[in-house]
Amino acid sequence: MTPTQIGLDFLVADEPVVQLGDTVAIDTSFPEESANALAHIESFNKHLFRPNTYLHKRWARRSGTTFWHILKQLVPDPARRDYYFPGGLEGVTVLDPMMGVGTILHEAIRPGAYVIGFDIDPIPVLQAKASLSDVPLSEKEKVFRAFRSELVKRMLKYYVTACPECGGAAEIQFTLYGQRKLGPDCEVLVADSLALREEPDGTEKNIRTTYPSLEFSIDGRSWPIVEKDEANKNGVNRKPSDILSNTFAERYVPLVIAGHCETHKGFLKKIDPADNMNISAAARWVKRNAHFTDADFQIPDGPKSGDLLNRETQTFL
Ligand SMILES: [Zn+2]
Repeated sequence: MTPTQIGLDFLVADEPVVQLGDTVAIDTSFPEESANALAHIESFNKHLFRPNTYLHKRWARRSGTTFWHILKQLVPDPARRDYYFPGGLEGVTVLDPMMGVGTILHEAIRPGAYVIGFDIDPIPVLQAKASLSDVPLSEKEKVFRAFRSELVKRMLKYYVTACPECGGAAEIQFTLYGQRKLGPDCEVLVADSLALREEPDGTEKNIRTTYPSLEFSIDGRSWPIVEKDEANKNGVNRKPSDILSNTFAERYVPLVIAGHCETHKGFLKKIDPADNMNISAAARWVKRNAHFTDADFQIPDGPKSGDLLNRETQTFL
């Protein structure tokens, strides 16, 4: 079973590992319990340790451990099918004609297989190419630095706020938003939690520090701020009718900025008028530079998109 080079820069085995009519392990049994347990851990870790710069996660991306389990069942030698036993598919070619973002290919390379993948959708193909190509680190760093400096030049100004201690320019690390929801009496802003940060000494920074009466006002309108659990208990779960056709971002109102001043270090501050002007300027920049109109993103009624329409989401934006 020596691999042979044929045309197009890929390799195939002289003879297929599995002959037509053969039964492979996966046809007769599958280690469901261990596959399920490991996929569970993998999904949990993926959420916890998500890197802050990452090519957009493909929606259909499945758990790699599940595919590793499947591939291990194709190992000809039963003694090498164990999940933790390395290798087993050396010299074999794995073809995935509908590869999506290439999870199968990523997993098949590790036990030694050659891989070929296709997909009709160009976006996952781009992602699979990017993640499967062996690009030298120095090359990646060069591209990243160029991208970052361009990003800083164009976007950094939207991430600056005034330090509440000295009034100097400070960096915005993130902004906490409240979601507009309709309660029995009025519209409210729902925050996941009123607790903003727990300090190492056990004390808590709370939204009440910035909004003592738990009320947010802007341009003559005001909303009570309600914690999510409290909102759920009191039947606050409907979306205000005027935002049904708006983009998801417009359902949120910025409340608190977490920032960092060179002199005064980390702080949490109430959104002030200058911050709101900054957010509006960023929104205008997006509108000016976007090569699409809202109409391009209207959700059509279909077997899957119907779910979104039923949840009162009318635009992909
Ligand atoms: Zn300061």
